[in-house]
Amino acid sequence: MKFDIITLFPELIEVYSKNGIIGRAIENDLFQLNYVYLRDFSEDKHKKVDDYPYGGGPGMLLKPEPMFKALDAIKKDNSYIIYLSPKGNLFNQRKAKELSKKDHIVLIAGHYEGIDERIIERYVDEEISMGDYVLTSGELPALMLIDAVGRLLPGVLGSDESSVEESHSNNLLEYPQYTRPERYEELDVPEILLSGHHKNIEEWRYFKAIETTLNRRPDMIKDEKIIEEYNKLRKKFK
Ligand code: SAM
Repeated sequence: MKFDIITLFPELIEVYSKNGIIGRAIENDLFQLNYVYLRDFSEDKHKKVDDYPYGGGPGMLLKPEPMFKALDAIKKDNSYIIYLSPKGNLFNQRKAKELSKKDHIVLIAGHYEGIDERIIERYVDEEISMGDYVLTSGELPALMLIDAVGRLLPGVLGSDESSVEESHSNNLLEYPQYTRPERYEELDVPEILLSGHHKNIEEWRYFKAIETTLNRRPDMIKDEKIIEEYNKLRKKFK
């Protein structure tokens, strides 16, 4: 899998690609992350890549010419081209899984007021939003997408960092977790986690995952069976 980001801020991508779990995965060649500096494709003598919007209005837009050239230089037959945009489909774990099956993802990070619509018409397969809010540029959304997709790729997470039981992996939020010490400032780890009884611990975690989801994101629970299971487990654990 390879990601290419078209960006005006390559330094942001560079720092990110050298740190943490994702940095280690790139170093070990588990996937590639490459940036393409948009100004390198500008033929303007000042390397200008933006201009005023037709029809007036505030701000500047990224121009079509440098972006068309950048995309022509990097896209292949199997490329999936995404424009990060607050107008796009809302990103989630299901989308991350779907994208983890692609061979080559090209991410267009916008800036200023966005990009000329003809870039979207000609090249973009999907517009993706990272949330119902507006950021100054597309680099953070692009890096969020790469992080969420990258960590699903084979070998990226070590055995201590599994994604199997995490929030959103099975339509539930994760159960609460504790580490040592058993008691800290009069706050205790739930006794059941110290019991060594694996079946009970597994059931308690499932119960807590449902409870957390019901309290915070009831919209995620679509299956009545989960509520029935929760009610049964509540008798055991409350
Ligand atoms: N004028 C645009 C609008 O109202 O939809 C907002 C442009 S925003 C200031 C500049 C760039 O930041 C966008 O082109 C996009 O790449 C990125 N961006 C901002 N918010 C985003 C979000 N929620 N999700 C994904 N990208 C976002």
